[in-house]
Amino acid sequence: MSEFTPLSELGEFGLIKLIKDKIELRHPSTVKGIGDDAAVLEPQEKQIVVSSDMLLEGVHFDLTFCPLKHLGYKAVAVNVSDIAAMNAKPTQITVNIALGARFTVEAVDELYEGIRLACENYNVDLIGGDTTSSRAGLVISVTAIGEVAKGEAVLRSGAKENNLICVTGDLGAAYVGLQILEREKQAFIANPEMQPELEGKEYVVGRQLRPEARMDVIHELKERGIKPTAMIDVSDGLASELLHICSQSKVGATIYKDNLPADEQMLETAMEFNLDPITCIMNGGEDYELLFTVPLEDYDKVKNHPDISIIGKITDASEGVNLANKQGQAFPLQAQGWVHF
Ligand code: ADP
Ligand code: MG
Repeated sequence: MSEFTPLSELGEFGLIKLIKDKIELRHPSTVKGIGDDAAVLEPQEKQIVVSSDMLLEGVHFDLTFCPLKHLGYKAVAVNVSDIAAMNAKPTQITVNIALGARFTVEAVDELYEGIRLACENYNVDLIGGDTTSSRAGLVISVTAIGEVAKGEAVLRSGAKENNLICVTGDLGAAYVGLQILEREKQAFIANPEMQPELEGKEYVVGRQLRPEARMDVIHELKERGIKPTAMIDVSDGLASELLHICSQSKVGATIYKDNLPADEQMLETAMEFNLDPITCIMNGGEDYELLFTVPLEDYDKVKNHPDISIIGKITDASEGVNLANKQGQAFPLQAQGWVHF
């Protein structure tokens, strides 16, 4: 007997019950979660922020190397990252899934294990969703709802000349992590006896498979009395995100090559693949760090934060958006976000 249960055995309602029975609700603003025609929320004098992201098998993830638990976690984390980038706190999520026929009950349970873990870590309630079948691959779409005090939301459009440009964590690792996973997949296809070689690559692979939203930084900025003037999360690579801030704020920017935060393992791996580490940082994507600008007066407040790098400054729009090297030469930035099509 197989240890896997086909979806047909449970049916749609059985599956939803399985999901619902393991859900814990944490927020007083959640009046009614899963189980009715719609969820009911009761926000407390806050502004509400909403963001959605859709992940498609074969486009955004590859189930040959992405464990379902990680995928569930990542689907939530990338949405929480968008809420964080608004300077808001996530409160609820909904999850829509389209499942191929080969999916089993155990597989859905594993996916939701990751979703539940993310709900716990980011303190959000899963309040609903939709379940359908898919003739292509797995589709998972998450909508995150968050709250922010009136006037505290941070848009992409608020950067001002002479603001400092800051970024959290390090960049480029998720991209080189993906190169490792693709390489190991090809090796496995060529020889299924092969075990993947991931030793010494745990960090970069982890950055690809299980990113974290930087809610920690949002809380710390608040504690330090820092309110960014503009903010965006780094999902498509630093270059493209900085260009978004600059075009929406109608400003220019100069960032300094030497100030870009890079992890040792990312640098090593980039070398192995003959990739320019600066390209990985600028155009890699999926880092889910926060890129934000602060007034110059906040310099002392950000400079000693171990997880924030000051990478440049906002200039007048006429100066353009540039990457400068040690010799003072500046090169205009190219947007090169992820191409899905
Ligand atoms: P309807 O027919 O009104 O769309 P459903 O049977 O699809 O109702 O959903 C019943 C309840 O289960 C609703 O509260 C819905 O939000 C929730 N739900 C359905 N699918 C999911 C899912 N994949 N994840 C979480 N909640 C779900
Ligand atoms: Mg439905």
